[in-house]
Amino acid sequence: MTKIALVGIGKIAVDQHVPAITASPEWELAATVSRHGTVPGTPAFTDIDSMLAERPDISVVSLALPPVPRFAYAEAALRAGRHVMLEKPPGATLAEIHALQAIAAEMGVSLYATWHSRMARAVAPAKAWLAGQTITRANITWREDVRKWHPGQDWVFEPGGMGVFDPGINALSILTEILPALVHVTAATLTYPANRQTPIAAALVFSGNVSADFDWRQEGPQTWDIEVETHKGHLALRMGGNVLEIDHKPVTGEPSIMGEYPALYARMADLVRTRASDVDLAPMIHVADAMTLGRRMVTDAFEF
Ligand code: NAP
Repeated sequence: MTKIALVGIGKIAVDQHVPAITASPEWELAATVSRHGTVPGTPAFTDIDSMLAERPDISVVSLALPPVPRFAYAEAALRAGRHVMLEKPPGATLAEIHALQAIAAEMGVSLYATWHSRMARAVAPAKAWLAGQTITRANITWREDVRKWHPGQDWVFEPGGMGVFDPGINALSILTEILPALVHVTAATLTYPANRQTPIAAALVFSGNVSADFDWRQEGPQTWDIEVETHKGHLALRMGGNVLEIDHKPVTGEPSIMGEYPALYARMADLVRTRASDVDLAPMIHVADAMTLGRRMVTDAFEF
């Protein structure tokens, strides 16, 4: 078993990382680093430097804290010769991820920029079905309730928190995985609450007749759909990439996201074994481009 430290014990660490690590025969959760959070039965540190100094036996560090503070933690872990796994989005900016890639290469350790939605059950079959086809239209609808998924997390509305692109980038991670040809953002409308720094909704237009509708104000049933039309037929990915329909008939998958994080940790084990890195910034480039091109709209103030 490889010893791993989990950093940032908050919502996603508790919901997904801890269950995935503890269920895996490949990993031992050997320490946590968090200013307030702990995992029962696991040695807890409140700062990364102490953990790195006191636990040379821990070779891998998984960072589950928000994107803005993550860079300093990643740099410290890489410079201490540890392999590093980054939650999505991999950082607050593209340039800081390039810097981490350079440090990982210099130190000879693995860096994994994870995209959990790419591990959804139906993504690989969707990619296989679309391979070699010409896309005539593609449409993302990603509408969820920010109060349910980010309760009280003001950082999502602070600079670098990405707003609705925090979930929207999951859809873009699937789109960039399954489409057989590159697309690029040509226009965007970004809707900001009057009292916030990041958008609560976004409408994106891409080349190739591709569009995306992201909204964080949907209560009740949540929508995480991608529909693609080709000359061969109609493909729909539902439930965040976990269910595949072809020509409006279910083909494969199940409506649960619980397979995604076990698959990320299995991939990290492979990367560490082979001393390889996996850093694909394509989803984040689309977000940066949408922010660059976006037309700003203002809506009602938002409070949790
Ligand atoms: P969160 O609960 O707000 O934050 C995780 C933990 O990070 C916090 O409990 C906090 O622990 C630590 N932290 C927060 N701000 C910090 C700071 N400025 N400096 C140092 N530590 C800080 O967030 P989350 O929902 O788990 O999201 C974390 C990451 O996971 C994000 O990148 C998000 O996109 C991704 N993610 C979230 C979800 C979801 O459903 N929420 C799903 C998939 C992926 P301490 O106070 O104990 O230090």
